[in-house]
Amino acid sequence: MQKELLNWYRANKRDLPWRKNRDAYRIWISEVMLQQTTVAAVVPYYEKFMKRFPKVQDLAKATEPEVLEMWAGLGYYSRARNIHKAAKQISTQGFPQTAEELLELPGFGPYTSRAVASLSYNEKVGVLDGNVIRVLSRVHGLKLNWWLPKERIQLQSLSDQLAQTEYNSEINQGMMELGATVCTPKKPLCLLCPWKTQCVALKKNIVDQLPLSKPKQDGEIWHWQMQIYTHKNKIYLEKNEATPFLPHMMFPIGKAEKAKKKPSKFDIKHSVTKYDIYINLKTSNKAPKLAKTNWFDVNDIKKINHSSLMTKILKKLEQLDKI
Ligand code: SF4
Repeated sequence: MQKELLNWYRANKRDLPWRKNRDAYRIWISEVMLQQTTVAAVVPYYEKFMKRFPKVQDLAKATEPEVLEMWAGLGYYSRARNIHKAAKQISTQGFPQTAEELLELPGFGPYTSRAVASLSYNEKVGVLDGNVIRVLSRVHGLKLNWWLPKERIQLQSLSDQLAQTEYNSEINQGMMELGATVCTPKKPLCLLCPWKTQCVALKKNIVDQLPLSKPKQDGEIWHWQMQIYTHKNKIYLEKNEATPFLPHMMFPIGKAEKAKKKPSKFDIKHSVTKYDIYINLKTSNKAPKLAKTNWFDVNDIKKINHSSLMTKILKKLEQLDKI
């Protein structure tokens, strides 16, 4: 299986900017960005980020708003904050070279740690992301509840077995590439697959049943009452501590609570992961005593908070003629 995959990967791999060398910093940033969206969407963000922060030391020296500005549009801003924290540690202590040590860094989970250890430092560890889970479940015909840690271990062990070669980096990238381009969630291109002769799911005609679908997480409804204070083209913002989503980002002050049903009236609807958020805006240009430093010029707000929710709030305020 290793040989077939390697031959296929070497002949079919896409030319991507993070594959130019095996630099751990470049690979790490690409892997985190790829957890957010597709390869095609990541490439321009990646190139812009690398131009602004070519070395881990450049990233470590930057301020948090500068890092968030380069991350704007990718979402999941807590990942950008963790990257920044980890860069500070790496720039003083050096890059750890094993998956076990990498796991100690902020934001490094099992997948990122293994990907960096193998792709940069040739450690014989297998990666397990959505693509690899799909490929391995199908090729071995495994009906596993892969979202449960005790069942996921079986897939991790199969991935680790495949990585027991000096070519572990290409094996890992090959499996991810196969999942992204051939063994796709819908309509996989089995005729082009290097493992088509031994694929159990293909033999049993159960490709479309694997991997098993993860049960849907129960969603949560939230009501968020925002009090918008404006004064001379400025808006008052504070760090959001009111909700479990979008934590520590600068938003207008207000109250938020979990609710049983959606409100009959609301100004903005927004969704973040499992949260459906309904926002009501109350505006006033007469502010009570508020911290002097928390007033921000309307034109600068996108630099302070890049989230799509803040963009919706500004748009709504424009429509209401409040800014
Ligand atoms: S033969 Fe088809 S289902 Fe099996 S691993 Fe290859 S692409 Fe996936």
